[in-house]
Amino acid sequence: MKALCDGCEQFMCFPPGHIYSSKQVDTLTDIKVVKLVLVMDFHLFSGLRRLYNPPWFSELVPSTPYDPLAVRNTFEKQGEELFGDYEWERFDLLVLPPSFPYGGMENPRMVFLTPTVIRGDATGAQVVAHELAHSWTGNLITNINNEHFWLNEGFTTYAERRIVEVVQGADRATLNIGIGWRGLTDEMERFKDNLECTKLWNKQEGVDPDDVYSQVPYEKGFQFVLRIERQIGRTAFDEFLKIYIATFKFKSIDANTFLEFLKANIPGIEKEINLQLWTEGVGIPEDAYELASTIYTKIISLAKEFKEGRMPGEDDGAEWNGQEWELYLENLTKSCEPSQVMALDKRYRLAESKDYEVKVSFLQLAVASKCREYHGEDKTEDSRPEKLQKLAEKTPAIV
Ligand SMILES: [Zn+2]
Repeated sequence: MKALCDGCEQFMCFPPGHIYSSKQVDTLTDIKVVKLVLVMDFHLFSGLRRLYNPPWFSELVPSTPYDPLAVRNTFEKQGEELFGDYEWERFDLLVLPPSFPYGGMENPRMVFLTPTVIRGDATGAQVVAHELAHSWTGNLITNINNEHFWLNEGFTTYAERRIVEVVQGADRATLNIGIGWRGLTDEMERFKDNLECTKLWNKQEGVDPDDVYSQVPYEKGFQFVLRIERQIGRTAFDEFLKIYIATFKFKSIDANTFLEFLKANIPGIEKEINLQLWTEGVGIPEDAYELASTIYTKIISLAKEFKEGRMPGEDDGAEWNGQEWELYLENLTKSCEPSQVMALDKRYRLAESKDYEVKVSFLQLAVASKCREYHGEDKTEDSRPEKLQKLAEKTPAIV
């Protein structure tokens, strides 16, 4: 296992399968550099670009130059500007094999990443921003138990988008918000018969947390945090965030503690925002906010037109990277005419995308639309269409 570590002009080699504790991490600077097998490619203004090049990956993503320290410093600086001092001394990234079942995991000092976020463009950078933001909200202030998980994830999703806004621009941040909004509305549909799961603060006694894991703590939590920012203004909210972090750092808290602190520091906020509805109510409150930008609105409108047989023109699609395609595909109707799906793939080769979020979104659409090219009726191994077989062999796990 190789990782980019502090002082990342060098690359360290770790024994496979070993997880270092924070204490052990302190000794890593003594480990001999073996060879440049893993390269995290960051660019100051375009974020994480690539590359990790074991044989299974280097075939898929071309090599690019790298400047890892520059963007990491940018991310860290922005995190500190938002939240105050970084308290963990180091911020290392460890890229795990494709079987790692999460996008990222925010272990203090050493974040784990799936290689599927390294997509050959900058669109995986928000995962690094997210895991970095957990250094404050999640690792410094932690939810007291899983019923208050939104305290970790709502604030972190908010911070992630603030970091992306600075490093990659407001349009990119807005696209992320749009994808998140779509995910949140999908979750409302998924839990329409189990409304407890649509609450930010929900009862989980006797419940397996994996059974109720969803985008709700992330995206409804984000919306709640954004709602407070919209109410009091960004400058005042940024000040509040710093005081919040400084007050509760290295503590575990619940939603009540946060709400009492909010009311004490922003007098009258409970008269402006229905705090109980936001934290204990079901569904999406009416004062949630679906942000819009030119590119976001255009993609949503193009997705609606697909139903009438119009696909994005070459001028539109040629400019899109992974997130634009992800937003487009996820806003199409759940199943389409197979011939339309095939035509879309013929023009843009989405089934062969190196961005696995795009590939998965497209293949889900193709399967739901009963495109026999990608989806055989007979599930026996021998009768699977050759193309799907090939794709299954080439596609690493998606998380
Ligand atoms: Zn998170």
